[in-house]
Amino acid sequence: MNASEAKVAATLDVDAVRAAFPILSREVHGKPLVYLDSAASTQKPQVVIDAVSHFYETTNANIHRGVHRLSQEATDAFEGAREEMRAFLGAEQVEEIVFTRGTTEGINLVASSYGRANVGTGDEILISHMEHHSNIVPWQMLCEQTGAKLVVAPINDDGEIEMDALAGLLGARTKIVAVGHISNALGTINPVAEIGRLAHQAGAVLVVDGAQGAPHGAVDVQALGADFYACSGHKMYGPTGIGVLYGRRDLLDAMPPYQGGGEMIRTVSFEGSTYAPVPHKFEAGTPNIAGAVGLGAAAAWLRGLGFNAIERHESDVTSYGTSRLAEIKGLRMIGTAKHKAAVLGFVLDCAHPHDIGTILDQEGVAVRTGHHCAQPVMDRFGVPATSRASLGVYNTRADIDALVAALARVRELFA
Ligand code: PMP
Repeated sequence: MNASEAKVAATLDVDAVRAAFPILSREVHGKPLVYLDSAASTQKPQVVIDAVSHFYETTNANIHRGVHRLSQEATDAFEGAREEMRAFLGAEQVEEIVFTRGTTEGINLVASSYGRANVGTGDEILISHMEHHSNIVPWQMLCEQTGAKLVVAPINDDGEIEMDALAGLLGARTKIVAVGHISNALGTINPVAEIGRLAHQAGAVLVVDGAQGAPHGAVDVQALGADFYACSGHKMYGPTGIGVLYGRRDLLDAMPPYQGGGEMIRTVSFEGSTYAPVPHKFEAGTPNIAGAVGLGAAAAWLRGLGFNAIERHESDVTSYGTSRLAEIKGLRMIGTAKHKAAVLGFVLDCAHPHDIGTILDQEGVAVRTGHHCAQPVMDRFGVPATSRASLGVYNTRADIDALVAALARVRELFA
């Protein structure tokens, strides 16, 4: 790292970051917007918006098959974004980066393609109790199709995976271990590298749901020991409808295609077809080209901010939020892991989460309420739903103060 990069990495100029997001200057119900719903979807900085518009204004054409100039430029932009995502995830080879619609599609791709080729009756797939539905349901579907069994590692009252129990559940039958990098409902940062080590010892592959991991810290798929890592553009300041699946090259090479169609073939005849090499084998049809370009811009922008600075800033606001929320009478935090990132989930004794969300909205404060696509987590903590304030790079202590003031209003109305 040179001196100027070190400077970038040291501190986050949060005013400059906020100024990069046009939407943050709008009002909601006559109040300044306080956006605390980044775990559902982050806002987009101007560079990402510009990258997408610029692509449509200057470069738009279908990719890969065209000999004309625009098609070549569009292909270069698309493949350039792939290289950006390779660097972002620390992958060794650009062929290990498959563009998808998002995390959900990435996990479904692994379950359908790797899963059906490598999992059989009596085999086991190990997940944790804190998974998002998109890291549960595809594995259940695979179990239905193959006769395999879904095994669930328990979590403790703080919302951390019980590692001894997880180690005890691994065995010769375990073919896939699938865990979230960071829980969207609890904020827990899972010890993914350690889980990877245990999974590999048992002869299983590690699939990481990186939807919440990619926006908050530097990801290094090789250091994590991830065989597959899925993430979504819209959760890391990029566009919706685009994401990336990292897959280890030897595994991707050996896997059958996920969907059939144009782009993924080498030759087609009625007698049979042969397939393109990776990653194109997994990218049937015209992809979200502008989305990929926007995602590449988002990844470059995040790397430019520096993940040290991002982590320090977000961890400051998360700790401040944790202590301010603790002051509120009748509030119970759901998710109190030692290693936690950017998610403040809670219930209030006096009001249902949906009422809390509605009143907060009237104050301009956007939070999410519900089960956060993690119904088993709600069951584990004995609550039907939570309110969740989730942070991005642009949030400040002032946003937490606005949340706390709005929650005081909820207490006034309901307590
Ligand atoms: N996993 C986690 C942990 C998530 O938070 C989400 C989105 N809420 C997903 C998976 C699914 O992501 P997407 O909807 O972008 O496919």
